[in-house]
Amino acid sequence: MILFDPEKCTGCGSCVDICPTDAIELINEKAVINEDECQLCGSCEAACETGAITIESEESEEKGDSGVDLSQYRGVWIIAEQRKGCMAPVVYQLMGKGRELADTLDVPLAVVVIGFDMRDQVESLAGYGADTVYYVNHSDCADFNDELYTDILVDIINKYKPEIVLSGATAIGRSLIPGVATRLETGLTADCTQLEIDPEKNLLLQTRPAYGGHIMATIVCPNHRPQMATVRPNVMKKPQVNPDAPCEIVEIPFDPNVYSIRTKLVEHICEGEGEGALLSDADIVVAGGRALKNSENFELIQTLAGLLGGAVGASRPPVDSEWMPYRYQIGQTGKTVCPKLYIACGISGAVQHLVGMESSEVIVAINKDRSAPIFEVATYGIEGDIYEILPALIKRLKELR
Ligand SMILES: Cc1cc2nc3c(=O)[nH]c(=O)nc-3n(C[C@H](O)[C@H](O)[C@H](O)COP(=O)(O)OP(=O)(O)OC[C@H]3O[C@@H](n4cnc5c(N)ncnc54)[C@H](O)[C@@H]3O)c2cc1C
Repeated sequence: MILFDPEKCTGCGSCVDICPTDAIELINEKAVINEDECQLCGSCEAACETGAITIESEESEEKGDSGVDLSQYRGVWIIAEQRKGCMAPVVYQLMGKGRELADTLDVPLAVVVIGFDMRDQVESLAGYGADTVYYVNHSDCADFNDELYTDILVDIINKYKPEIVLSGATAIGRSLIPGVATRLETGLTADCTQLEIDPEKNLLLQTRPAYGGHIMATIVCPNHRPQMATVRPNVMKKPQVNPDAPCEIVEIPFDPNVYSIRTKLVEHICEGEGEGALLSDADIVVAGGRALKNSENFELIQTLAGLLGGAVGASRPPVDSEWMPYRYQIGQTGKTVCPKLYIACGISGAVQHLVGMESSEVIVAINKDRSAPIFEVATYGIEGDIYEILPALIKRLKELR
């Protein structure tokens, strides 16, 4: 509930400026809040220097403690995603952050692998900081199955009681983890970009963009366990490997008779198979923006990416205009990439695009507008026309071959 004290309101308007839903206006130099529009995001409370606005949490007022014995829960868990027996890169990226969170809380870090015949991959997780790997190894578990994986995870989380559970915000993670959180009757923050521990309360602070990226919301799960979050691939950095790190592998027995599987995997069809490097895993990404004007011109981007052994990406306008399929989109509502080299061709550098690529190691921007914001994040900037620069680059690379 939002509470407003007109006596304390000085009419400064800071709440009006910051409100992402335009729910506040100034009338006679006093803030007036439209409660139908207000989403209780808390921006105005934080911006109000006189304390005229306060937000009271209904949970703390009405429900109080959830009755869950929080002290029983200990440890940080990563749910490992695998496809055809290969670990998804996001697993290693999450382990770096998981180790950091576990060290801050002084608790163990564990990884859960559900699959079949993956012993080498399971052992490799030790070097990335896991104290324990829980491994469910059975032919029925070889391929992702929503229902089965949910049942297994709910059982082992209830048994071992970790306080934090993290997973990749991938297609599999997005399908699996909400069901697990619902069955465990706990909260879930999807698509986090930052995770840290509140030093006073030891709670997981889960930060993600909200209101179309206008604000960053930090969410906590104070009364239920585990605290669950998904993180987009390539937002966190993969840690250095330490091959000597000790790690215990615990095989969890799997009895197929205990679980009922109502669905059967008939065939895997990978979208974009045979189109070159996979965008989210590529070391080099060449991306085109609105300046490409049509799908035919994207051949320039495809040729350059092909010569560099990289993947093709796009900003949102080429996708909205149907020059490129959605799977190529990079940014807030597309994919997040973190390649060694990102070449942005005719992309202005809007914040919604930058969130999907700005952690790339080296960014090269080609743009004819010297004041384009992309140059602010670029390692190297080329001021010029892509229709001159790209053909010249392609010609030179072909000569070098
Ligand atoms: C909720 C929300 C979510 C969004 N999600 C995304 C997202 O996921 N990804 C995303 O990319 N955008 C997203 N957007 C859109 C974003 O705000 C921008 O509109 C978009 O990124 C702009 O794309 P662009 O840079 O290709 O086009 P523009 O901003 O139009 O920039 C084109 C650039 O090309 C340059 N140029 C033109 N001709 C040439 C030439 N011949 N040679 C060299 N340079 C040239 C221009 O100088 C300009 O800088 C989102 C927006 C909203 C509101």
